[in-house]
Amino acid sequence: MAPAAPVDPLTGLSAARFAVYVHFPYCLSKCPYCDFASTAAKQVPEARYARAIIDELVLRQDTAPGREVHAVYIGGGTPSLWSPTHVAEVLRALRERFVVPAGCEITLEANPGASDEARFSGYREAGVTRLSIGVQSFQPATLARLGRAHDGAAARRAVATARAAGFDNVSVDLIYGVHGQTVAEARRDAEEAVALGTEHLSAYALTLDAESLAEEVPLARQLSRGEVALPPDEVVVEMQREVRDVLRAGGLERYEVSNYAKAGLHSRHNAAYWTGGDWLALGVGATGSLGPARYTNQRSADRYLEDVEAGRLPERSREQLSSVERFEERVAMGLRLTSGLALEQACVAFGQPWAPRQALVARLVREGLARLADGRVQLTDEGFDVHSAIAARLM
Ligand code: SF4
Repeated sequence: MAPAAPVDPLTGLSAARFAVYVHFPYCLSKCPYCDFASTAAKQVPEARYARAIIDELVLRQDTAPGREVHAVYIGGGTPSLWSPTHVAEVLRALRERFVVPAGCEITLEANPGASDEARFSGYREAGVTRLSIGVQSFQPATLARLGRAHDGAAARRAVATARAAGFDNVSVDLIYGVHGQTVAEARRDAEEAVALGTEHLSAYALTLDAESLAEEVPLARQLSRGEVALPPDEVVVEMQREVRDVLRAGGLERYEVSNYAKAGLHSRHNAAYWTGGDWLALGVGATGSLGPARYTNQRSADRYLEDVEAGRLPERSREQLSSVERFEERVAMGLRLTSGLALEQACVAFGQPWAPRQALVARLVREGLARLADGRVQLTDEGFDVHSAIAARLM
């Protein structure tokens, strides 16, 4: 059954209008390409971290008390290192504070290397409805280049374990555009993923800003020194097209630039990001968005715990977005969706002129980069290839 969430009028997508994101920052080791808020820990402070999340929730007690939550997402890091008891504690605290209706999508990210049936069953009992498994690739060479500890067999086992534990909504992640990867290997990964029969799949190109990340991300350092090179853009685009075609033929429809799902089973949580929803974010490095307010928590686990345990909000930055910034975000995000964006309505809602954009849309349609359907501007596959450039022009 498709998870319950209202429909966003500007995109026509069923999407959480209010979601909660919980970040779990601990991993068994740090992957060389990772720029997420994650840290390798020999001993994960599971109970202490659960307590801190609940304490942060208390510190944010003025945020949307009693509001209905349409999706919860526990991401990381490696949340499947958190025992079900602690996941249950956190979900209980959310239920005490908000209305979490039956059918609410509750996702937990799991790594193939940290998954067993008892653990997955425990998550289900705690109320988790969906698992997102970080497969990334099935090919030994690609996994080795990404520094991932699991192999293709462990990835397949993790999905089978999720099924055995009763999960009927499972997503897997793939990465393409990895140094040394061929188009045929990217295609093979997509074929193997389709064979698993999961309901959802995210496929992202590996991107690393070698300049700004060189200090902390080993692969970015290697890139900046010229020791490795990512495939050229045209090869990455070819990989993306191959992946898209394999997934489409396998019954996974593209609904967002990098996301695919069986009918009705797109991510309600991520849809909040793409449709201007609100989300409360808790945990290390998490970024929340509530109306025009945007905040980001401490990226260091130690600083985060120190702040929360001293009764301080663990934020490292906070800003108020202007109406123009929110409009721009709505355009850039809405055009990522195959359902498209009601651009004229968005212009009206944010007080932006429609006429100059109308002319530009007509041109995009003539050039085969967009179409108009259901009153929305929808990018074509060719349009998605140049999504950022189109969004920038329409903003
Ligand atoms: S498992 Fe994920 S979050 Fe952890 S280090 Fe690797 S890429 Fe980063």
